[in-house]
Amino acid sequence: MAGYDFDLFTIGAGSGGVRASRLAAGLGARVAIAEESRVGGTCVLRGCVPKKLLVIGSHFAEDFIDAKGYGWTVGARSLDWPALIAAKDRELDRLNAIYLRLLDDAGVSLVEGRARLVDPHTVEVAGRRYTARYILLATGGWPYLPEIHGIEHAMTSNEALDLPSLPKRLAVVGGGYIAVEFAGLFNAVGVKVTQILRADGLLRGFDQDVRVALAEEMAVKGVTLMRQTVVRSIQACPQGDLSLRLGGALETVGEDLRVDAVLYATGRRPNTKGLGLEEVGVRLDAEGAVVVDQFSRTAVDSIYAIGDVTDRMNLTPVAIAEAQCLIDTLFKDRPTAMDYQNIPSAVFSQPPVGTVGLTERQAREQFGDIDIYLSRFRPMRHTLSGRAERTLMKLVVRRSDQRVLGCHMVGADAPEIMQGLAVALKCGATKEQFDATIGIHPTAAEEFVTMRDKLPDPEAVPS
Ligand code: NDP
Repeated sequence: MAGYDFDLFTIGAGSGGVRASRLAAGLGARVAIAEESRVGGTCVLRGCVPKKLLVIGSHFAEDFIDAKGYGWTVGARSLDWPALIAAKDRELDRLNAIYLRLLDDAGVSLVEGRARLVDPHTVEVAGRRYTARYILLATGGWPYLPEIHGIEHAMTSNEALDLPSLPKRLAVVGGGYIAVEFAGLFNAVGVKVTQILRADGLLRGFDQDVRVALAEEMAVKGVTLMRQTVVRSIQACPQGDLSLRLGGALETVGEDLRVDAVLYATGRRPNTKGLGLEEVGVRLDAEGAVVVDQFSRTAVDSIYAIGDVTDRMNLTPVAIAEAQCLIDTLFKDRPTAMDYQNIPSAVFSQPPVGTVGLTERQAREQFGDIDIYLSRFRPMRHTLSGRAERTLMKLVVRRSDQRVLGCHMVGADAPEIMQGLAVALKCGATKEQFDATIGIHPTAAEEFVTMRDKLPDPEAVPS
């Protein structure tokens, strides 16, 4: 690969870009990675990690209350929010240092600054040009804000993770992953949260029973859900708070909602602007995502893209797996396409959601005859805590061969439980194999291997 400065030049040092660069360097390739901000990317610096730390921190509020049912007397307690933010920041600094060290140890050259493509083999960063046999786009995504009057008063998840103090009243706009996670965590620490959904329900694309159960549980915990409602404008009030003009559902048309802060979690868009992509022939879709083939190759032979910038499945472990496939393809002479079947995911809402495989609706559309096993119960912890929280578990099974196509859960530890079930689904487990598996008692998870009664088939129920 002589003739080029590098064998691989990666743009964006997030989860996908760092993994691909390290793997390539480990195989002896000469690799550079450009980053305009800190090394670590969305997951480490502005997403999964800080969010999960704040979710864990917020959960103690309920734990203190639940402890009473177990005989504890818990004295005065209060949350020092700035201390939590500072502790979280220290952890991010530690992770950032680890990422830097990993790149350095692997022999990857870090180029600081914003990169721009010059031609299919040349990148410019801070006025200097670098040539490479392959260029990898791994620039991730960024929060999207709709253009409404007063949107400059809104914050995104980026700012919410660094709030210097807690607002008393918070509006969360959106019903996706980020919206339910932040609504849950701020509600848990005592903020009065109103979540505003333009749709009829939370978490579009998830199993309907999951969507309904989570909305019920969030409402019980105190989140006010306004469905079929949009924010028409945001006005800063002389008193220092904000007034949201609402529209949409009949009962909220023209109403105003007064809050101290508003968080928009209305989706994310790929970071593709100003990189010179289209000028060199890289194709983008209508949302600005880089169009790639099954081997993550763009419309230009020497340019590849992985992770959120391709808007395939926007999850960190997926970007990392795409990186592995790409390096196998480019540097091991083993063309490898990523397998997007049965990818588990979790939403760190309160309670959390875990899911893998098909929803009931997807399964019915794809295979017709489906058996559904569903259980809704009070978890053991809450028999003594007295909390009214209920767990939901659901299995979606193909009737013809009894293969389990989907597992869904809303309840404590759902993300931890779902990881193991994802292995079973990846192996093609059947309902008989679930039934033959001995449960671990007493756990909530055992319910997944002890559900025996399927729900009545809606097709067979006389109307
Ligand atoms: P999502 O796409 O999940 O949700 C966006 C939400 O915003 C939807 O409820 C959507 O409504 C709503 N919305 C979109 N545009 C508007 C608008 N103009 N006005 C009002 N509402 C609007 O995006 P997120 O930002 O929550 O998350 C982005 C991605 O990040 C996720 O898809 C996921 O891949 C990833 N992620 C994963 C996490 C995890 O694994 N735990 C955590 C956080 C993020 P509607 O349903 O009507 O379209």
